[in-house]
Amino acid sequence: MPETNGAGKFLAAVRNALGAEAVNVTPETRHRYGENTMPAGDRIVSGVVYPGSTAEVETVIRLANEYRVPLWPISTGYNQGGGTRSPVKDGWVTVDCGRRMNAIIDIDDVLGWAEVEPGVTYQMLHDELVRRGSKLMLDTTSGPPGGGVLGNTLEKGAGYTPYFDHFAMSCGMEVVLGNGDVIRTGDGGLPGAKLWHVSKYSYGPYLDGLFVQSNFGIVTRLGFWLMPRPPAMRTFHFSFPDDDDLAEIVELVRPLKMSNLVPTLFRLTNDIYLYGAEETNPEYAATGGKAGISDAARRALQKKHGVGAWVASAALYGAGDDGLKPVVERIRQHFARSRKARYISHEEALGMVPLKIAIDAFAGIPTTHELGMLKWRPGGGFSWFVPGVPMRGDLARHYHALGRAIYAKHGLDYCVMNIAGARFARGLHMLFFNRENPEETARADRCYRELALEFSKAGYSVGRAPIDYHDLHMGELDPVIRKTASSIKSVLDPNGIIAPGKYGIA
Ligand SMILES: Cc1cc2nc3c(=O)[nH]c(=O)nc-3n(C[C@H](O)[C@H](O)[C@H](O)COP(=O)(O)OP(=O)(O)OC[C@H]3O[C@@H](n4cnc5c(N)ncnc54)[C@H](O)[C@@H]3O)c2cc1C
Repeated sequence: MPETNGAGKFLAAVRNALGAEAVNVTPETRHRYGENTMPAGDRIVSGVVYPGSTAEVETVIRLANEYRVPLWPISTGYNQGGGTRSPVKDGWVTVDCGRRMNAIIDIDDVLGWAEVEPGVTYQMLHDELVRRGSKLMLDTTSGPPGGGVLGNTLEKGAGYTPYFDHFAMSCGMEVVLGNGDVIRTGDGGLPGAKLWHVSKYSYGPYLDGLFVQSNFGIVTRLGFWLMPRPPAMRTFHFSFPDDDDLAEIVELVRPLKMSNLVPTLFRLTNDIYLYGAEETNPEYAATGGKAGISDAARRALQKKHGVGAWVASAALYGAGDDGLKPVVERIRQHFARSRKARYISHEEALGMVPLKIAIDAFAGIPTTHELGMLKWRPGGGFSWFVPGVPMRGDLARHYHALGRAIYAKHGLDYCVMNIAGARFARGLHMLFFNRENPEETARADRCYRELALEFSKAGYSVGRAPIDYHDLHMGELDPVIRKTASSIKSVLDPNGIIAPGKYGIA
């Protein structure tokens, strides 16, 4: 098993300083912490450390500097499709911050914020709000409920309510830098600060952005805003029959978002993304996975699940159903401009399993349902590809045709949800492949790389990237970005001990 120089001595020093229970080097653990679903395969870590406090994170970083050992911090490690809990490279030491640092430190019911440690999951925070009978709700991802609020924010993750942008809704971090300093960003720099989790920009440069999708420090606390729970919510859904309808859907959605008539994001979900959690590719055995699912098989599944090639879903919030129904009716008339849209009411959608995920997401309820999609193809291979597209029908048509053709060329199944705001939509493309089949795995890797290069050539950049492709995406940007990030790295983490090379920053 690989081990970077000095990892053994470092782990012994951590054991000495923090106690035996803070270190695990069993072969099973070293393998488990390197498991992922990516084409490049599992990594093997040199060991795992479990700090129990900010002071213990400081100790781990001090010793890593002494022994020059690369660290890979995780919070809950539920980053499936992005690398799960695996580091970028073999031989690093994983710092599992969430195992012992998992307290909800505070919830301010009046001002609507929570202060959390790395191990606080969406499910934990949701359950705590319910337990307290709080009038607040959480914006959650539609991914694993065991995923962490802090880890997802550091990945620039998002949900679906008006509080969807998790980094925008974060306020005030505590970070142990690679150079050993501990910094509280924003107003946290003032002893006795009263504004740490309520005022975002404060005095001096805005530093919080340095710690998302980077490798300058280990974040140990985060302030996170919570939304008042509306007394009533009504979702609405419009199903469209054809793949090419995305352009028209985008044109219909944009004014509703620009005017803010609809407060949530729109989930513009294609058919496989809708029924994929319920089904497996019915043609996989016959084609040996060499071809994507046929249109005929897709039509049959669409019929079975009562959905078209696309469904656009969003929600309204208000004091009561009576006030919301007339607004839904206005939106219905707006969509009626398209002769192709079929309206699906909130009540009907409650009975449709694929749309129940959307309803839970708009209500801020964590759900395991979407994880079922990882079984669409056998073998467990799965990668996200997440470019954005401006909210213009002509561009959406181009972007969609480009993606669909590349998937088809590589014999994979085009599965995407575009999360639409006023000005752009983030396309959550799921790339499923049989990781037990080397030929299919290599094809999935080529597919991702072609998607990445063709989309960036067309001007559509990604919002985050799986561990196999950090360098690829950084290489697509003007080199001054990498150079600037590396300059910052050399000051905040001069020995390069925190995830060197992550996000292409060394
Ligand atoms: C089916 C499915 C649907 C999904 N839907 C969504 C969705 O709707 N929206 C969305 O945003 N995501 C979605 N995801 C992605 C995923 O759920 C989260 O992004 C994931 O849970 C990240 O949280 P985590 O705590 O597990 O992070 P981790 O895996 O612990 O870490 C994530 C990243 O942050 C870094 N990091 C973690 N902790 C620290 C720390 N303390 N200090 C410094 N760096 C740190 C890690 O190195 C890693 O790069 C989905 C996933 C699946 C499988």
